[in-house]
Order: sequence, then C-alpha cells, then structure tokens
Amino acid sequence: MALKVTCPNCGPRQYMEFWFGGELLPPTAPGADELAADFERVWLRTNRAGVQRERWFHHAGCRRWVETERDTLTNEFHGRE
Ligand SMILES: [Zn+2]
Repeated sequence: MALKVTCPNCGPRQYMEFWFGGELLPPTAPGADELAADFERVWLRTNRAGVQRERWFHHAGCRRWVETERDTLTNEFHGRE
C-alpha cells in the first residue's frame, strides 16, 4: 500500500512527489511573544498520535503547498486532501 496525497491541482499522487512541510498549528495570538511562538512551532512539535493538520509541498507537480489532515497512526488522509 503506497501512501497517496491528493493535490487539489493535480489529483492523487504518490507521496514521493511531495516534501513533508510539518504539522500546522494555530496562529500566534495577538500580543504573544512571537519569538517564543516561532521557537515552539519549529522545534517543539506536537507529534500527535491520531489526526493532525499538515502541509505538503508538491515539488514534482504544481509546486504548491497542500494542506491535509492525516491520521499518523494509519497514514490515511482525511477531509480536504
Ligand atoms: Zn499538485
């Protein structure tokens, strides 16, 4: 079973056509320490067991970022793929 990512521009493609861009986190609240928030976003990943929002870059296709929801336990993509 090969992992497939569905690009909204190109359709379902093999994961090798994409670069993993990391998990998507909520934006920094107004007035928060942006430097600390950037550090946490880059270095302190949640590494959730279950569904998480992620970004993938379609380097071998349309060269655009794709937002997905993936179950990290089963590698199945959900929702807006
Ligand atoms: Zn694409």
